[in-house]
Amino acid sequence: MSFSAVIVAAGSGRRAGGAKQWRDLRGKAVARWSVEAFLAAGAEEIVLVIPPGDQERAAEALAGLRVWRAVEGGAERRDSVLNGLAALDCPPEQPVLVHDSARPLLTTRVIAELVQAARHADGALPALAVADTLKRQDDPSAPLITQSREGLWKAQTPQAFRRSVIEAAYAAWPSGEAPTDEASVVERHGGRVVLTPGDPRLLKLTYPEDFEMAEALAGAVRTTRIGMGFDAHRFGPGDGVVLCGVHIAHDQRLIGHSDADAGLHALTDAILGALGEGDIGDHFPPTDARWKNVDSAVFLAHAVDLVAARGGRIANVDVTLICERPKIKPHREAMRTRLGELLSLPVSAVSVKATTTEAMGFTGREEGLAAQAVVALELSA
Ligand code: MG
Repeated sequence: MSFSAVIVAAGSGRRAGGAKQWRDLRGKAVARWSVEAFLAAGAEEIVLVIPPGDQERAAEALAGLRVWRAVEGGAERRDSVLNGLAALDCPPEQPVLVHDSARPLLTTRVIAELVQAARHADGALPALAVADTLKRQDDPSAPLITQSREGLWKAQTPQAFRRSVIEAAYAAWPSGEAPTDEASVVERHGGRVVLTPGDPRLLKLTYPEDFEMAEALAGAVRTTRIGMGFDAHRFGPGDGVVLCGVHIAHDQRLIGHSDADAGLHALTDAILGALGEGDIGDHFPPTDARWKNVDSAVFLAHAVDLVAARGGRIANVDVTLICERPKIKPHREAMRTRLGELLSLPVSAVSVKATTTEAMGFTGREEGLAAQAVVALELSA
């Protein structure tokens, strides 16, 4: 499902009382929500169209995320969209999703259905059937007229088009008119635009009170992913082990291609598992000389980067070390602190536990040491 995204975040936000794209919504800038949703859905490139001079604010709002770049917008929405389209690297046939940053609560489901629909039409947009009865009153003294809502839809964004289609349609659009969405531009050009299921959570932040609604709904567009990992390494002659990034003096060492830190290996696998990204051996083959004797923090950092690249956030981790010796408890707080640093998590979200197997099995005979890890992370739904 390869696609690109243009997010229009160039507005001054007069009606919402300030530049709403940088405003905080549940701990993240409004614009960041959409970028994270596109990352979670696998966008190949994301262009964010921002107000002139706001490069630093954009970098701050999107810190840690990848695959995005910012370009400055123009006087009208149309100019901003065209600047965004011009900044894309993708080929003419690639689906491009044009989105308003003012609709932050975007989900992977909405994106996936648009990309699918855009393959068989000139364009696709998410829409909701009008549920309220519609009244018309042209001035306060005029009588109310009830209008039929039959066949009426509320258009949302993102709206999906092949790049060549939206660019050709905009090129033909009369210069004096201001379209309110991209679908209308493609419709006017004779294109066939289809509807996909909209999402009531994709509400547009227009007035200050809309933020309260979005705050209440924000939790509902994130999903929790669980991953688990297991690892074991054999003991050999030596003078210490490294576990969860902490060196512990011991009368043996752990044998492995890297530093044999079973705790970090299990944790790395747990994160990869939550992402559905294979296992540590896929990313760091033991046949590769680059990983010989390497600090396993490198592996964990890679997994953490993958979470960020998908717009995710690790919620908590729980590691269990299984051995008779060395004793883990005296080192547990140092391990939690080190893991907290590596994961950018508070120590309260990092657990390290230890158990013996009561002298049973390979850990009981002290042939080796094992580790288990569980991680919970938050991704766009
Ligand atoms: Mg290992």
